[in-house]
Amino acid sequence: MKILILLILLLPLYSLASREVDRLTEIVNMNSGTANIKGVTAIQNKVKPWFEAIGFKVTLVPNPDGEKVSAPMLVAEMVGEKTETITFVMHADTVFEPSSPFQKLKMTNEFLMNGPGTMDDKGGIVMVLKALEDYLSVVKKPKYSLRVLVSPNEEVGSIGWWNTFHQFSQSSWLVLGLEPGHDDYGIVQGRKGNIWYEINVKGKESHAGRDHAEGVNACQILAKKLEEIQKLTDYKKSITTSVGRMEGGQDKFNIVCGWAKAKIDIRVPDLASYLVITKKMQKILKDPRITFSIIDETPAFNVNKISRPVIAMYLKAIEKIEGRKVISHISGGVGDVNHFSREGVIIMDGLGPVGGHAHTEQEFLDIRTIDTRSNVLTSFLQGL
Ligand SMILES: [Zn+2]
Repeated sequence: MKILILLILLLPLYSLASREVDRLTEIVNMNSGTANIKGVTAIQNKVKPWFEAIGFKVTLVPNPDGEKVSAPMLVAEMVGEKTETITFVMHADTVFEPSSPFQKLKMTNEFLMNGPGTMDDKGGIVMVLKALEDYLSVVKKPKYSLRVLVSPNEEVGSIGWWNTFHQFSQSSWLVLGLEPGHDDYGIVQGRKGNIWYEINVKGKESHAGRDHAEGVNACQILAKKLEEIQKLTDYKKSITTSVGRMEGGQDKFNIVCGWAKAKIDIRVPDLASYLVITKKMQKILKDPRITFSIIDETPAFNVNKISRPVIAMYLKAIEKIEGRKVISHISGGVGDVNHFSREGVIIMDGLGPVGGHAHTEQEFLDIRTIDTRSNVLTSFLQGL
């Protein structure tokens, strides 16, 4: 009898998060590695009726670059009193393909859920659903129009969607990224931009002994250039350049290296430093033996005059609901919300529930934060 009473007393506490935890369990146990297009599509189809049930009009949009590039993007929309839109951004894919041994969810303890995509970023999906449901249950019609995007290939840079993001940004006054909260429970007020260069050097092969003088050593040319590029790093200005890979020549000792190539990652904190760095790179790479292409170019976003008070409001809501003081960070990693960057739009990210060890088999989510962060979002929306 005593146990029964205790159970009844405890029930309301746990019923709070249980539906979200059930939903999360279900989608974490479905593999959605980015390349597993069928798997990611299955997540989108699973989630679609959840958004429809709270009044959204939902479409699955095929990748503009072709259906083989990625699964479709889920776009859920609701018209509000104003045409200005709040856009919520999250993603359905993970870095764990079907070949990974890391597939299933397990509870590490009462509150910590270990599994692929628990924090990055499936937790964000179930959290936003709860926040919007709660918000819509207290307002007849939302003040701003609402748009939810669940992107299918964020983990590989959302190839094919950059224009779509640009267009959605035009009608957004506020873009909220549901990537996981920071390790210290903080949120993200800016993300660096990145530029990926692929550099090719054409030299001339020759016999390393007999015809050494006739050769043009591509590896040597490349090595010199890489040294110059590496020197553009300036930690004080938050500018980094990094050689990710280099290769060249034949797998031989006695042939002068005839070709070489390298992959370079450059991170910049804002538009101004982007312009400076691209100019310097052009200068370094100006050489008739060198060709290069820019493989990825993601703009930075950063806190500004219009976003500062809105971010402060969000931090206050976290403090009130979770009883902890948190800060907003500038993150080195890029995300989908970077592609919404333009003058006049407010962007925040890291508003999802909190966990740790993303992209590793130790990835976990503190499931208590599904509730708290969704309450934060609801109260923030109500306060706008
Ligand atoms: Zn993510």
